[in-house]
Amino acid sequence: MVITEIFKSIQGEGTRAGLPCIFVRLTGCNLRCTWCDTVYAFHGGKKYSLDEVLAELNALAGDGPRRVSLVEITGGEPLLQTETPALAERLLAEGSTVMIETSGERFVGVLPREVIKIVDVKCPDSGEPDTFDLANLDAVGKSDEIKFVIASRRDYDFARDFTARHELADRVGQVLFSPAFADPQGRWPGLDARQLVEWILADGLPVRLGLQLHKFIWDPAMKGV
Ligand code: SF4
Repeated sequence: MVITEIFKSIQGEGTRAGLPCIFVRLTGCNLRCTWCDTVYAFHGGKKYSLDEVLAELNALAGDGPRRVSLVEITGGEPLLQTETPALAERLLAEGSTVMIETSGERFVGVLPREVIKIVDVKCPDSGEPDTFDLANLDAVGKSDEIKFVIASRRDYDFARDFTARHELADRVGQVLFSPAFADPQGRWPGLDARQLVEWILADGLPVRLGLQLHKFIWDPAMKGV
């Protein structure tokens, strides 16, 4: 596998936000979202065998009752690498709770059912609309989450309509609406979280607001957190 970084932090997003978590960030992505905050994972990386990934991860996770048992496989796009399902299998076999963050462009049905899938649907202002693999709708379940990063009212309208049309609230455990976070270097604007909340409440949507906790705790441009 080609890996950009393995690190321990807290989970910043989704229904497990705030929990200690080990992250495995795989290198490479076939999309180019306008507001991508992990462009450093597009290229480079270091080759690891599965055993080497597990050894580094276990050294970070620790032993006994203080072991960090939550692991997130992320990227880049982790499903571009053919060994990702095998990595998930090994982590599950070791007793970890395994999450994966994926763009929605790849089919998540290749993963073990027990993996908690956080699947993006790219909105128009991501610059990567219409990339979602609709087969993913039948490959997710009540322990999974579907996420929209929303940068504008146009994105919000798309996310609201997609959520209703595909009855997402009945398919997955959570539908997450996350405001795009403004680039610290000013390359793209963010969406005010309060504005997004007002739209959600006005429409009475069955969704959860998602904020990236790590960007409030550390410098938003910081890697490895
Ligand atoms: S899919 Fe994820 S890693 Fe790839 S460009 Fe979009 S935000 Fe960045």
